[in-house]
Amino acid sequence: MQKGLISAVKAVMPDVHHRFCVWHLWKNFNKNWKDLQLRGLLWECARATTYQEFRDGMEKIKRLNEDAWAYLEKWPMNAWTRSLFSHKPKLDSICNNACEVFNAKIKDARAKPIITLLEEVRMFVMRTIAKNKVKLQNHTGKLTPVIKSRLEKVRKESKHWKPIWTGDNGYEKFEVHRHPTNHVVDIGKRLCTCQFWMLTGIPCVHACATLSRVNK
Ligand SMILES: [Zn+2]
Repeated sequence: MQKGLISAVKAVMPDVHHRFCVWHLWKNFNKNWKDLQLRGLLWECARATTYQEFRDGMEKIKRLNEDAWAYLEKWPMNAWTRSLFSHKPKLDSICNNACEVFNAKIKDARAKPIITLLEEVRMFVMRTIAKNKVKLQNHTGKLTPVIKSRLEKVRKESKHWKPIWTGDNGYEKFEVHRHPTNHVVDIGKRLCTCQFWMLTGIPCVHACATLSRVNK
C-alpha cells in the first residue's frame, strides 16, 4: 500500500526525498510476524544511522526468520532506515506522527467545503503560534526547548568519548574513540561517520567531544 503511494507521489515530485512511516511498516509486518525480538530488530534497523549497523540488524533478522527478512528487503531502503536517508532535510523522523496529529486536529473540519476547511486550518495554526509565543516568553537562547534538551543530553554523553587529533593542518579532523567503536569527525565540514550530525544538524556525541577538545 505504502509502496504504491510512494510511486504515485514520486511520479508527481520526482526530485523529492520520500520516506515511509516505520510505525505503519511495522504494523503490516506485525500481521505476519508477531515476534518481540523481530519487532525490536526492525526498529533497530530503522533507527541505525550507519549502514554497517543497519546491515548487522538485517543479518540478525535473516538468521531468525528468512521470510521476515525477505519482506523487509523488498522495500526501498532509503525510505525507512536513517542510515540511508538524504542529508538535506536535517530531520531524522522515521514516523509520520506530525501528520497524524495534524489529521486528528482537522478531523471535524475535514468534511466541510474547501474554503471553510482552509479557514479552520488557518485559525488552528494562528492559535498554535500564539500559544507557543506565550509559552516561550521566558525562554532564552537561540535553540528551541526540544532541540536544546536534546543537545544537552548529547553533550553529557560526549564526556565518555576520547577525541584524537589526526594531524591535519586545520586542527579539524579527529578520530573519536570509545571501546569498541570509533568514528571520524571533521568539524570544518560538519561531518561525522556516525551520520547523526548530517541527518539532524545537531552535533553528535563525537562532534561534541571534538568541539569541547578544541574549545569551541
Ligand atoms: Zn558522530
